[in-house]
Amino acid sequence: MAVREIRTIGDPVLRQEARKVKKFDKRLHQLIDDMVETMRQAPGVGLAAPQIGVSERVIVVELPEDEEDPQSGKLYEFVNPEIVRASDTEVEGEEGCLSIPDIVGDVWRAEWVVVTGQDRYGKPQRLEARDWLARVFQHEIDHLNGVLFIDRVEGPAKLRRLVKVKDKDGQERWKAVPLQAAVSA
Ligand code: ZN
Repeated sequence: MAVREIRTIGDPVLRQEARKVKKFDKRLHQLIDDMVETMRQAPGVGLAAPQIGVSERVIVVELPEDEEDPQSGKLYEFVNPEIVRASDTEVEGEEGCLSIPDIVGDVWRAEWVVVTGQDRYGKPQRLEARDWLARVFQHEIDHLNGVLFIDRVEGPAKLRRLVKVKDKDGQERWKAVPLQAAVSA
């Protein structure tokens, strides 16, 4: 396994429509293993193959363990994922992306989705995801279509930049500030 370089905004691979995977071979398994390692090391909760420069329809997702969310703490690997059903209800929530460092924004997403696809061996799989997991799946599947979360943000007012600030006691922490202020500061 190897950690691969994460491509950032401006790299054309992030804007391409990714190819469908047809061969479930060793090369694919290596790709998925590398994606998992790269996601964990970043750290991130999801990664799509185009983010490491491979224009193929593969995503990995893993939410940190949370006792209140049974969907968390599990590793999901999806090849050729597709959203086959989505709730009419949408919820707005904050998103960031490993390919767009230090920027977060509010995005409307379906509250739940049903995702179908294949595992690394080509076996069909299906998942019902809700809340945060549903959001991450929608975000990662967007990557396979060349769509980034900033495309779905309603306007600059809904974007924020993360900056490091020092607390009174000298502790450093991240704070989200309006993009406009961050740019002119
Ligand atoms: Zn992303």
